Amino acid sequence: MKLVTFSTGGDLRVGVVDADEVRDVSGLLPAGADVLQVIEDWAQWGPVLAERPPSLPAFALDDVRLHAPIPRPRRDVFCVGKNYREHVAEFGRSGYDQPDRSETLPEHPVVFSKATTSVTGPFDDVLAHPGVTSELDYEAELAVIIGRGGRGITREQAFDHVWGYTIVDDVTARDLQRRHKQWLIGKSLDTHCPMGPYAVSADEITDVTALQVESCVNGEARQSAPVKDLIFDVSELIATISAGITLLPGDVIATGTPAGVGIGFDPPRFLVPGDVVEVSITGLGTQRNRIIDTEGES
Ligand code: MG
Repeated sequence: MKLVTFSTGGDLRVGVVDADEVRDVSGLLPAGADVLQVIEDWAQWGPVLAERPPSLPAFALDDVRLHAPIPRPRRDVFCVGKNYREHVAEFGRSGYDQPDRSETLPEHPVVFSKATTSVTGPFDDVLAHPGVTSELDYEAELAVIIGRGGRGITREQAFDHVWGYTIVDDVTARDLQRRHKQWLIGKSLDTHCPMGPYAVSADEITDVTALQVESCVNGEARQSAPVKDLIFDVSELIATISAGITLLPGDVIATGTPAGVGIGFDPPRFLVPGDVVEVSITGLGTQRNRIIDTEGES
């Protein structure tokens, strides 16, 4: 099932996408319920939404505004750095992380987070934040959405805790990432976490490792790699994070980005206002975000 958070000018609604239509299922849910609540109580609401009657209000996808499926996660988005071999190499060569330009693969997952306030919609504008950063970059990523929470989840149990998947562009201010050492600030500027368009339940994805993660900038292909190229796979990430931290329903884990980001080029190709970044993953749709200087710019 493809869940969306959408609006048609008013309140945020919960929708289920069928082909090119959004069916408004908010009427089947408790007043004010959002996608996060649906995921948290999936055993209850999954069957109700699966049985959605055809009489529910429906809208053409083109006629609604799609928001991030989880517009305000309950806490920061977990992220994983340096999780595709070729990206580790390009990041190492860039000198952004270590002055010795090491291309050594990490021995353990590199886990950091993005602030909840960085989350924005799949087709919303991304702010360039002039005066704050001048080195804006994109990172196409598969994101895992946790269903059943837990601590001490083993590799073998990991997929029992996965509700489904979405797309995240882990937009990064490289100068801030480098300057502040810890990555939180460089990864968390407002609008720097486009999410969606859909939250896709795991039953729709037969083999997550077969999904292809792709990005392009202004129509030019930049990144393309299958999820099977992850150094630390989805099971390993869940086991590592949950070893001592309780994962909660609705937690989002962005699994890392393939090679082809802006700092991978020499000279680097940073994003500038007017650029359009598209990120696609097999079965999860495409997000498209324009970089703008200032909020409210048309
Ligand atoms: Mg990333």
